[in-house]
Amino acid sequence: MICNYHTHTYRCRHAEGTEREYIERAIAGGIKKMGFSDHIPFAFPDGHESDYRVRVAEAEEYVATVRALKKEYAADIELHVGFESEYYPKYFDEMYENAVKWGAEYLLLGQHFTRSEWPDGFYSGWLCANPDELRIYCDEVIEAVGRGVFTYIAHPDIFNFVGDSAVYDAEYRRLCKAAKSAGVPLEINLLGVRGSRHYPNEKFWRIAGECGCTAVLGFDAHTAPDAYDAESIPKALALAARCGVEVVDDFELKRIGV
Ligand SMILES: [Zn+2]
Ligand SMILES: [Zn+2]
Repeated sequence: MICNYHTHTYRCRHAEGTEREYIERAIAGGIKKMGFSDHIPFAFPDGHESDYRVRVAEAEEYVATVRALKKEYAADIELHVGFESEYYPKYFDEMYENAVKWGAEYLLLGQHFTRSEWPDGFYSGWLCANPDELRIYCDEVIEAVGRGVFTYIAHPDIFNFVGDSAVYDAEYRRLCKAAKSAGVPLEINLLGVRGSRHYPNEKFWRIAGECGCTAVLGFDAHTAPDAYDAESIPKALALAARCGVEVVDDFELKRIGV
Protein backbone atom coordinates (compact mmCIF):
# COMPACT_ATOMS: atom_id res chain seq x y z
CA MET A 1 0.00 0.00 0.00
CA ILE A 2 1.56 3.29 -1.10
CA CYS A 3 -1.45 5.59 -1.06
CA ASN A 4 -3.51 6.76 1.95
CA TYR A 5 -5.72 9.83 1.84
CA HIS A 6 -7.57 9.31 5.13
CA THR A 7 -5.70 10.92 8.02
CA HIS A 8 -6.77 13.04 10.98
CA THR A 9 -4.83 15.20 13.41
CA TYR A 10 -5.16 16.43 17.01
CA ARG A 11 -7.11 19.39 15.63
CA CYS A 12 -10.40 17.47 15.55
CA ARG A 13 -10.03 16.81 19.29
CA HIS A 14 -10.64 13.06 19.19
CA ALA A 15 -7.36 12.22 17.47
CA GLU A 16 -3.85 12.79 18.73
CA GLY A 17 -0.51 13.65 17.23
CA THR A 18 0.91 16.32 14.99
CA GLU A 19 0.97 16.24 11.23
CA ARG A 20 4.73 15.67 11.34
CA GLU A 21 4.38 12.53 13.46
CA TYR A 22 1.83 11.05 11.06
CA ILE A 23 4.03 11.87 8.07
CA GLU A 24 7.14 10.29 9.60
CA ARG A 25 5.21 7.14 10.35
CA ALA A 26 3.74 6.98 6.83
CA ILE A 27 7.16 7.40 5.22
CA ALA A 28 8.61 4.66 7.43
CA GLY A 29 5.81 2.35 6.27
CA GLY A 30 6.45 3.06 2.60
CA ILE A 31 3.54 5.39 1.84
CA LYS A 32 4.26 7.56 -1.22
CA LYS A 33 1.04 9.59 -1.43
CA MET A 34 -0.64 10.80 1.73
CA GLY A 35 -3.58 13.05 2.34
CA PHE A 36 -4.78 14.77 5.49
CA SER A 37 -8.56 14.68 5.65
CA ASP A 38 -9.46 16.05 9.04
CA HIS A 39 -13.12 16.54 9.96
CA ILE A 40 -14.28 19.66 8.17
CA PRO A 41 -14.93 22.69 10.36
CA PHE A 42 -18.49 23.90 10.33
CA ALA A 43 -20.51 26.47 12.25
CA PHE A 44 -24.24 25.84 12.22
CA PRO A 45 -26.55 28.85 11.80
CA ASP A 46 -26.73 29.35 15.59
CA GLY A 47 -22.93 29.32 15.81
CA HIS A 48 -22.64 25.78 17.20
CA GLU A 49 -19.49 23.85 16.25
CA SER A 50 -19.59 20.11 16.89
CA ASP A 51 -16.89 18.79 19.15
CA TYR A 52 -15.47 16.23 16.72
CA ARG A 53 -14.46 18.74 14.08
CA VAL A 54 -11.57 21.07 13.52
CA ARG A 55 -12.56 24.51 14.74
CA VAL A 56 -13.45 27.05 12.07
CA ALA A 57 -10.83 29.34 13.56
CA GLU A 58 -8.15 26.68 13.00
CA ALA A 59 -9.04 25.78 9.41
CA GLU A 60 -6.57 28.06 7.70
CA GLU A 61 -3.75 27.11 10.01
CA TYR A 62 -4.44 23.42 9.36
CA VAL A 63 -4.18 23.90 5.60
CA ALA A 64 -1.10 26.12 5.90
CA THR A 65 0.62 23.60 8.17
CA VAL A 66 0.15 20.73 5.73
CA ARG A 67 1.19 22.93 2.80
CA ALA A 68 4.44 23.85 4.52
CA LEU A 69 5.13 20.19 5.30
CA LYS A 70 4.34 19.29 1.71
CA LYS A 71 7.32 21.39 0.60
CA GLU A 72 9.55 20.18 3.37
CA TYR A 73 8.91 16.49 2.70
CA ALA A 74 8.61 16.71 -1.10
CA ALA A 75 11.56 14.41 -1.69
CA ASP A 76 10.09 11.64 0.47
CA ILE A 77 6.33 11.75 0.08
CA GLU A 78 3.61 13.50 -1.92
CA LEU A 79 1.37 15.27 0.59
CA HIS A 80 -2.12 16.67 0.14
CA VAL A 81 -4.58 18.54 2.30
CA GLY A 82 -8.32 18.08 2.32
CA PHE A 83 -11.25 17.35 4.56
CA GLU A 84 -13.58 14.51 5.42
CA SER A 85 -17.08 15.93 5.14
CA GLU A 86 -20.65 14.83 5.60
CA TYR A 87 -23.18 15.64 2.94
CA TYR A 88 -25.99 17.57 4.56
CA PRO A 89 -28.35 18.73 1.81
CA LYS A 90 -29.13 21.93 3.71
CA TYR A 91 -25.55 22.89 4.47
CA PHE A 92 -23.31 21.27 1.92
CA ASP A 93 -23.00 24.24 -0.43
CA GLU A 94 -21.62 26.29 2.41
CA MET A 95 -19.32 23.47 3.56
CA TYR A 96 -17.97 23.08 0.06
CA GLU A 97 -17.42 26.79 -0.46
CA ASN A 98 -15.56 26.95 2.84
CA ALA A 99 -13.33 24.03 1.88
CA VAL A 100 -12.40 25.74 -1.39
CA LYS A 101 -11.90 29.10 0.34
CA TRP A 102 -9.56 27.54 2.91
CA GLY A 103 -7.49 25.99 0.13
CA ALA A 104 -8.37 22.30 0.51
CA GLU A 105 -7.45 20.11 -2.45
CA TYR A 106 -9.97 17.33 -1.96
CA LEU A 107 -12.91 15.95 0.00
CA LEU A 108 -13.76 12.50 1.28
CA LEU A 109 -17.40 11.76 2.01
CA GLY A 110 -17.89 10.46 5.55
CA GLN A 111 -21.62 10.34 6.24
CA HIS A 112 -21.45 10.04 10.03
CA PHE A 113 -24.95 11.50 10.36
CA THR A 114 -27.92 11.83 8.06
CA ARG A 115 -29.81 15.10 7.50
CA SER A 116 -27.56 17.06 9.88
CA GLU A 117 -26.09 16.66 13.32
CA TRP A 118 -27.21 19.85 15.01
CA PRO A 119 -29.58 20.59 16.63
CA ASP A 120 -30.52 17.02 15.74
CA GLY A 121 -29.81 14.38 13.16
CA PHE A 122 -29.48 10.63 12.97
CA TYR A 123 -26.11 9.09 13.88
CA SER A 124 -25.12 6.48 11.31
CA GLY A 125 -23.50 4.22 13.89
CA TRP A 126 -26.69 3.67 15.90
CA LEU A 127 -28.22 0.21 15.67
CA CYS A 128 -31.17 0.79 13.40
CA ALA A 129 -33.86 -1.48 11.99
CA ASN A 130 -35.96 1.24 10.38
CA PRO A 131 -35.87 0.94 6.57
CA ASP A 132 -36.74 4.62 6.17
CA GLU A 133 -33.53 5.66 7.92
CA LEU A 134 -31.32 3.44 5.77
CA ARG A 135 -33.11 4.82 2.74
CA ILE A 136 -32.32 8.38 3.78
CA TYR A 137 -28.68 7.45 4.33
CA CYS A 138 -28.43 5.92 0.85
CA ASP A 139 -30.33 8.80 -0.75
CA GLU A 140 -27.96 11.33 0.76
CA VAL A 141 -24.83 9.39 -0.17
CA ILE A 142 -26.10 8.98 -3.74
CA GLU A 143 -26.91 12.69 -3.93
CA ALA A 144 -23.42 13.46 -2.63
CA VAL A 145 -21.83 11.25 -5.27
CA GLY A 146 -23.83 13.18 -7.87
CA ARG A 147 -22.10 16.39 -6.84
CA GLY A 148 -18.92 15.06 -8.41
CA VAL A 149 -16.64 16.55 -5.78
CA PHE A 150 -15.79 13.62 -3.52
CA THR A 151 -12.65 11.56 -4.14
CA TYR A 152 -14.26 8.53 -2.53
CA ILE A 153 -16.85 7.36 -0.03
CA ALA A 154 -15.22 6.63 3.32
CA HIS A 155 -16.72 3.70 5.22
CA PRO A 156 -19.75 3.51 2.87
CA ASP A 157 -21.15 0.76 5.11
CA ILE A 158 -21.14 2.90 8.29
CA PHE A 159 -24.94 3.00 8.52
CA ASN A 160 -25.60 0.29 11.08
CA PHE A 161 -28.76 -1.28 9.68
CA VAL A 162 -29.81 -4.46 11.51
CA GLY A 163 -33.33 -4.85 10.10
CA ASP A 164 -34.70 -6.88 7.21
CA SER A 165 -31.84 -8.24 5.10
CA ALA A 166 -33.79 -7.76 1.88
CA VAL A 167 -33.95 -4.04 2.70
CA TYR A 168 -30.23 -4.02 3.53
CA ASP A 169 -29.49 -5.60 0.19
CA ALA A 170 -31.79 -3.40 -1.89
CA GLU A 171 -30.71 -0.11 -0.35
CA TYR A 172 -26.98 -0.73 -0.26
CA ARG A 173 -27.14 -2.14 -3.79
CA ARG A 174 -28.64 1.18 -4.89
CA LEU A 175 -25.72 2.98 -3.27
CA CYS A 176 -23.16 0.65 -4.85
CA LYS A 177 -24.65 1.01 -8.32
CA ALA A 178 -24.60 4.80 -8.06
CA ALA A 179 -20.95 4.78 -6.95
CA LYS A 180 -20.04 2.41 -9.74
CA SER A 181 -21.74 4.44 -12.45
CA ALA A 182 -20.18 7.68 -11.18
CA GLY A 183 -16.74 6.05 -11.00
CA VAL A 184 -16.41 6.85 -7.31
CA PRO A 185 -14.46 4.27 -5.27
CA LEU A 186 -15.62 2.86 -1.94
CA GLU A 187 -13.26 2.74 1.01
CA ILE A 188 -12.53 -0.35 3.04
CA ASN A 189 -11.98 1.45 6.31
CA LEU A 190 -8.98 0.20 8.24
CA LEU A 191 -10.03 1.92 11.46
CA GLY A 192 -13.05 -0.36 11.29
CA VAL A 193 -10.79 -3.36 10.70
CA ARG A 194 -8.42 -2.68 13.58
CA GLY A 195 -11.22 -1.67 15.94
CA SER A 196 -13.49 -4.59 14.98
CA ARG A 197 -16.25 -2.10 14.32
CA HIS A 198 -19.53 -2.92 12.55
CA TYR A 199 -17.82 -1.90 9.32
CA PRO A 200 -16.38 -3.09 7.01
CA ASN A 201 -19.40 -5.36 6.77
CA GLU A 202 -18.93 -8.44 4.60
CA LYS A 203 -22.60 -8.35 3.56
CA PHE A 204 -22.03 -4.91 2.11
CA TRP A 205 -18.81 -5.85 0.32
CA ARG A 206 -20.43 -8.85 -1.35
CA ILE A 207 -22.98 -6.48 -2.85
CA ALA A 208 -20.18 -4.11 -3.88
CA GLY A 209 -18.44 -7.02 -5.59
CA GLU A 210 -21.59 -7.97 -7.46
CA CYS A 211 -22.00 -4.38 -8.62
CA GLY A 212 -18.42 -4.22 -9.91
CA CYS A 213 -17.40 -1.45 -7.49
CA THR A 214 -13.82 -0.42 -7.01
CA ALA A 215 -12.38 -0.31 -3.49
CA VAL A 216 -9.58 1.72 -1.99
CA LEU A 217 -8.03 1.37 1.45
CA GLY A 218 -7.99 4.18 4.00
CA PHE A 219 -6.18 4.04 7.34
CA ASP A 220 -8.53 6.63 8.88
CA ALA A 221 -5.64 7.36 11.22
CA HIS A 222 -6.50 9.07 14.49
CA THR A 223 -3.08 8.35 16.03
CA ALA A 224 0.34 8.64 14.39
CA PRO A 225 1.10 4.88 14.54
CA ASP A 226 -2.04 4.27 12.49
CA ALA A 227 -0.66 6.36 9.63
CA TYR A 228 0.80 3.01 8.65
CA ASP A 229 -1.25 0.11 9.99
CA ALA A 230 0.49 -2.92 8.51
CA GLU A 231 -1.66 -5.48 10.32
CA SER A 232 -4.98 -4.35 8.91
CA ILE A 233 -3.95 -4.28 5.26
CA PRO A 234 -3.96 -8.06 4.62
CA LYS A 235 -7.28 -8.39 6.46
CA ALA A 236 -8.86 -5.78 4.21
CA LEU A 237 -7.38 -7.33 1.09
CA ALA A 238 -8.65 -10.75 2.13
CA LEU A 239 -12.13 -9.32 2.59
CA ALA A 240 -12.02 -7.75 -0.87
CA ALA A 241 -10.81 -11.01 -2.41
CA ARG A 242 -13.58 -13.02 -0.73
CA CYS A 243 -16.15 -10.56 -2.05
CA GLY A 244 -14.77 -10.21 -5.57
CA VAL A 245 -13.96 -6.53 -5.17
CA GLU A 246 -11.05 -5.00 -7.04
CA VAL A 247 -8.77 -2.86 -4.86
CA VAL A 248 -6.95 0.07 -6.41
CA ASP A 249 -3.97 1.47 -4.55
CA ASP A 250 -2.24 4.22 -6.52
CA PHE A 251 -5.10 6.54 -7.43
CA GLU A 252 -5.58 10.26 -7.95
CA LEU A 253 -7.55 12.78 -5.96
CA LYS A 254 -10.58 14.52 -7.34
CA ARG A 255 -9.44 18.14 -7.07
CA ILE A 256 -11.90 20.71 -5.77
CA GLY A 257 -12.09 24.38 -6.55
CA VAL A 258 -10.25 24.14 -9.86
ZN1 LIG B 1 -12.64 10.96 13.39
ZN1 LIG C 1 -12.06 9.70 9.03
